[in-house]
Amino acid sequence: MVHEWADHQVFNLDDGAILYDVDLASLFRIDASIQAVLQRWSCQPRVDLNEVAPPDRAVLEDLRDLRLLVPAGSAKVWPPLRCDPTEIPLSTMVLEVAQDCNLRCTYCYAAGGAYGGPARLLDVETARRAARYLVEKSGDNQALTLVLFGGEPLLNMPAVKAAVEEAEEKAAALGKKLLVSLTTNGTLLDAEILGFLRQHRVVVSVSLDGPAELHDANRPDAAGRGSYSRILARLGGLLENSNAAVAARVTLTPAQWSRCEEVFDHLIGLGFHEVGIAPASPISKNLLPDIQQEQVLLESLASMARRFSRLAKEGRILPFSNLVELLSRLHMGQTKAIACGAGYGYLAVDAGGEFYPCHRLAGEKGFAVGTLATGVDADRVRSSLAQLTTGKDKMCQSCWARSLCAGGCHYENHLRENTLGIPPGSSCDFIRRWLQIGIELYAELRHAGADGLLAKLEKRNTC
Ligand code: SF4
Ligand code: SF4
Repeated sequence: MVHEWADHQVFNLDDGAILYDVDLASLFRIDASIQAVLQRWSCQPRVDLNEVAPPDRAVLEDLRDLRLLVPAGSAKVWPPLRCDPTEIPLSTMVLEVAQDCNLRCTYCYAAGGAYGGPARLLDVETARRAARYLVEKSGDNQALTLVLFGGEPLLNMPAVKAAVEEAEEKAAALGKKLLVSLTTNGTLLDAEILGFLRQHRVVVSVSLDGPAELHDANRPDAAGRGSYSRILARLGGLLENSNAAVAARVTLTPAQWSRCEEVFDHLIGLGFHEVGIAPASPISKNLLPDIQQEQVLLESLASMARRFSRLAKEGRILPFSNLVELLSRLHMGQTKAIACGAGYGYLAVDAGGEFYPCHRLAGEKGFAVGTLATGVDADRVRSSLAQLTTGKDKMCQSCWARSLCAGGCHYENHLRENTLGIPPGSSCDFIRRWLQIGIELYAELRHAGADGLLAKLEKRNTC
């Protein structure tokens, strides 16, 4: 039978290479002899195995068994067929319980929590209504997630409590599992709030940028005072008595990227169970990294990958969320046909009950997709997603990272392309190099026989 090549990429290592199947995101370590066969034959668009002489034939048959060579005409095409977003039932709702904040972080994409409008809080009845909407529109989905977000959500505990209690009651009535998470700046945590969060098993993330001087430079309050010591004084009860892992969410500006490892170590030293580090969104040109800064961040991430590998060989997991999430996706073979769930089962509700495909787009009226009063407007969902993804399918078609990235974050693309006027694709090299770090680490862990640890990561990311 005549075969053709599935799209693939080879990553060279010091002691061999990785053969990566672009559409399945599966990977195999190969030695020099297999690599030589691959080089001889992968330039041929079609391969008739009957006409290949040994020993190449045996190698090509192995590659066929690994689905790297597929029957002619059956190689996958990009973009994959996608269903209509409005046919997907809800699984995740992000509720902006407070479009207000007591901090004024320098990189805040929500403009001090209010998303460009007047500061406002979600009222209790709208919070209950939104929680009911999540459950009622969840179709056959058995696992639902309610994300309490802001601004600073703890400014509005009445709405937090109303949304959690309503969602719990309605989900339980239908026998569905509900996960509630909350992202806070940590300045308002107190015993009563902690009691509520613990009682309802709310998964908490705290935004904290590390050592005091770095954090305070990024996250002052409205009077310009740093917030680090205030948060630290309130963390104890959360970290010591939590019934779920507490994560620190770090945001660093390009000038701070050389400090990733120091920030990670500091936060783990404070007792956080997991730390994730994100580059600040380029809300203005001064937050756009240059090539050297991107290189610095990639070197930090590569260094974290080496630490991950060393610890994994002792059977321990480095609790660095960026790598944990990527490795578990690779282990589960989780590929993407779309960049994220925005509009596909994921809905953000702002403090006025207006719908957006993603919480980060709240306040951008051009992307609004309905209201709690009128429901989701199917045409608006389709047109918002079309606006956010214009040109991406064509751009991603020839990219080896497409089944892991699928176009990148809508909001980051929107900032770069529509707000800053930068041509599409400006962050693609960085994305590919980061994914390559994860792929190489995954291959190394598999080679070292760390399958048990990888299975633990998978479990951790699906709980
Ligand atoms: S705590 Fe969050 S919402 Fe408040 S200013 Fe900082 S980044 Fe913005
Ligand atoms: S890296 Fe760029 S080209 Fe590749 S899939 Fe992501 S957005 Fe598309």
